[in-house]
Amino acid sequence: MHVIDAQAVWKKCLLFIEDNVNKSTFDTWFKPIKAVGLKDMVLTIQVPSAFYYEFLEEKFLPLLRSALYKEIGKGARLEYSVVVDSSKETPYTVKYGQTNKDATRNPQVSMPLSLKGDRKKGIPNPFVIPGLKKLNINSRLNENYSFENFVEGDCNRLARSAGYAIGKNPGKTAFNPLFLYSRTGLGKTHLSHAIGLEVKKNFPDKTVLYVVAEQFMHQYVEATLNRNAQDFINFYQMIDVLILDDIHFLAGRKKTQDQLFHIFNHLHQFNKQIILTSDKPPVELKGVEERLLSRFKWGLAADLQVPDVETRKAILLSKIKKDGIDLPEKVVDYLASSISTNVRELEGALISIIAQSSLNKKEITLDLAKKMIDKFVISTSREISIDFIQKVVCDYFSIPIDVLNSKTRKREIVQARQLAMFFSKEHTKSSLATIGHYCGKKDHATVLHAVRTVRDLIDTDRQFKQYYKELDKKIRIK
Ligand code: ADP
Ligand code: MG
Repeated sequence: MHVIDAQAVWKKCLLFIEDNVNKSTFDTWFKPIKAVGLKDMVLTIQVPSAFYYEFLEEKFLPLLRSALYKEIGKGARLEYSVVVDSSKETPYTVKYGQTNKDATRNPQVSMPLSLKGDRKKGIPNPFVIPGLKKLNINSRLNENYSFENFVEGDCNRLARSAGYAIGKNPGKTAFNPLFLYSRTGLGKTHLSHAIGLEVKKNFPDKTVLYVVAEQFMHQYVEATLNRNAQDFINFYQMIDVLILDDIHFLAGRKKTQDQLFHIFNHLHQFNKQIILTSDKPPVELKGVEERLLSRFKWGLAADLQVPDVETRKAILLSKIKKDGIDLPEKVVDYLASSISTNVRELEGALISIIAQSSLNKKEITLDLAKKMIDKFVISTSREISIDFIQKVVCDYFSIPIDVLNSKTRKREIVQARQLAMFFSKEHTKSSLATIGHYCGKKDHATVLHAVRTVRDLIDTDRQFKQYYKELDKKIRIK
């Protein structure tokens, strides 16, 4: 009986959750969840993997808690059931209480018997390979991301030359760790692979490992679930050159950071090379423990900047040469001058032009490039923000933004505020909670109410409908 109740309750929770996250988040993280039991205010949900559980707990705990309190009552808790192997095992359960912070940090894991018996049954542990020869570890380096294919410019000179020096002398330069940071698409991943490849070229016996921070965390979680945490650490302590990409992902993940701390200390002490990449410099990394941050600053922190137009041109020419394509110089100039956001977009535009021309058997002309780029640039700059919407609404009604976001209940202001909330819901991917926060620190229910009110008024009030129409036009032509 309680399974049906559970499903009904969970369905209501989902309605609430759906209103508070964007669609892709909802589809990825909430849709696959099944409710399997409800007893004494404890709702048991089944998630596809341990990673899901950790991710939900890290990212969505407050939201889940609100949904549960709302639908079941204050003090309601969640219990996760993780599917280990849907074909044969009965799922095992990871329990944690949402009212108790400590309990959420240290989940009690009841292990399925099959996993407990792993070692005795001789199932190989993923981290320890008996009689391991160093070369057995797959470095996971992409051959295309070499130094040869990495174009040097003012934007990356320091990072590149430090990286090159490491490639010749890993662990022995002052650049340990090398901390590369930049916005997305500016070559952090490429450069870190290039260093790894260079080490492999010069020192074939050295063990190089490239791993994305998200995977690193995933491996650690799996290892703890399998009671192999020590093996996980041992494995990483054997690496000569460790490349950990996108470490900003570890923000707030304390346990994974603790493991990284131990691994870092060990590697550094034995003069092993560490390369880290991040979207921010160490000082701006939030949610990362101080003791780790201070270690990140031991070596060199170097940023990659947006390449200038000459470097962008050189990058395009190098890609064209590598792929053996003929591209008129005018087109190269045009691309290099019109796409200045990052290298990934530059490459993206080049690829779509080449694809278009071969698809339609058309020669690549400046005209074709222009048409493509118009589409490309418009589609990338069309992000409409809550700030922008507020500005349009305020200009339209001639109200200062701080009045719009104040507590005033004056009718005209409330109406403008509701319109701003409504358009934010329509045009941005922000959750109701976020929109509320930006529009005068209101809660999600207020935003939901605003959205409904605006819809009603559009249907019933002609003057209001006119406001809506004109504003809609202004917002869309951004
Ligand atoms: P990030 O990791 O900073 O997001 P990537 O390393 O993935 O960026 O780079 C995005 C794309 O741009 C990759 O295909 C990479 O090869 C290319 N790229 C970036 N910088 C350069 C450069 N200096 N020379 C050649 N290609 C580059
Ligand atoms: Mg990257």
